[in-house]
Amino acid sequence: MKVFYNTEYVAPAHAFETTRKSSQVAEAVTAGRVQGAELADPQAIIDLCEELIAQVHDPDYIKALKTGEPSYLAESQGFAWDPGIWSMAVNSTAGVLAAAEVAVATGRPSGSLSSGLHHARYSNGSGYCTVNGLAVAARWAAAQVAGHVTILDTDAHCGGGTHQLLDDEERILHLDLSVNSFDCYEPVGDNELSILINPDETEYLAEVDRLLSRVPSDTELLIYNAGMDPYPTVTRACLAERERRVAQWCTEQRVPVVFVLAGGYLTALDMEGLVDLHLETLRAFADHDHQTAPADLETFSKTRPGGWDGRLMAPQTDMSFPTPTTIWIDDPAINQEDMDLLDEAGFHHETRSSLGSIAQSGPPDPRPSRRWSTTT
Ligand SMILES: [Zn+2]
Repeated sequence: MKVFYNTEYVAPAHAFETTRKSSQVAEAVTAGRVQGAELADPQAIIDLCEELIAQVHDPDYIKALKTGEPSYLAESQGFAWDPGIWSMAVNSTAGVLAAAEVAVATGRPSGSLSSGLHHARYSNGSGYCTVNGLAVAARWAAAQVAGHVTILDTDAHCGGGTHQLLDDEERILHLDLSVNSFDCYEPVGDNELSILINPDETEYLAEVDRLLSRVPSDTELLIYNAGMDPYPTVTRACLAERERRVAQWCTEQRVPVVFVLAGGYLTALDMEGLVDLHLETLRAFADHDHQTAPADLETFSKTRPGGWDGRLMAPQTDMSFPTPTTIWIDDPAINQEDMDLLDEAGFHHETRSSLGSIAQSGPPDPRPSRRWSTTT
């Protein structure tokens, strides 16, 4: 099983879990702690990846990530800007795309050690998320396959950025299981957001099963945002079982899958414990990689003659999203006066400490999603 990573994933100077843990997981893979997994470098597709990111995010925001100016945009994901942030964003997005390419071309599971994806919006970052690699990969995959692309997001927090970017996109389904209302939203179309407050193991796993049952039968790629930050609300054993069930379901249903690490914090774990949790994801999919029947691989190689050749197929059509018309309250693109008012009201974008304290203290009551419309 190919797992994408390179040292640019940890390029930002700002050091904390989201910008560092992938190197530790990569070390564990290199040390042979995940049988059947091998690291692969997505560097070869960087140029195409930059083009694809430019079709999904606002040019002003991308410019800010590259230059550091204006700082409120360049640092909108929640940490100090330096040139490594753009390098990290492009390389870790390339990893998601490369893994998606492997899955679509061969039918075998693949993954990227990327984190910091699902809160990123069209015109800004949010909640430690810089570029929304889930949306970029979903849009790319939808241009490659005739059936559905489904995103299953089990990060503790809600994927409001993915929701904003995808909206009710044809052939892309967004299923979101959260245990915390941070970045919640009103799902559109067939999309679903399920927020479980302090679920027990049975309830949590039943919801995983139910959401899997909602994946359309013509799904040709499942993009799995495998957050480990439901811990400690959800136990380690339960999260390991979640990974086993998702991997088994993909094998049984013959759905190609790409996974990313997503959230996981040191609020209740040390780094070794956090890495161990993320390794559960890799192990679950590596185990099922061995169970992918040769007959299935035959089917996939017909879909993509030649299988995976280490390159990313460029989409044949423009994959730009329509520019979102709704900007969320934590969007720094709104004017300063409005920002001040929102700050006063306590609605400014989340900071690292507030996100950490939410993770530590357990989820607050779900609140209705709050939107700031540019048209009213
Ligand atoms: Zn999270």
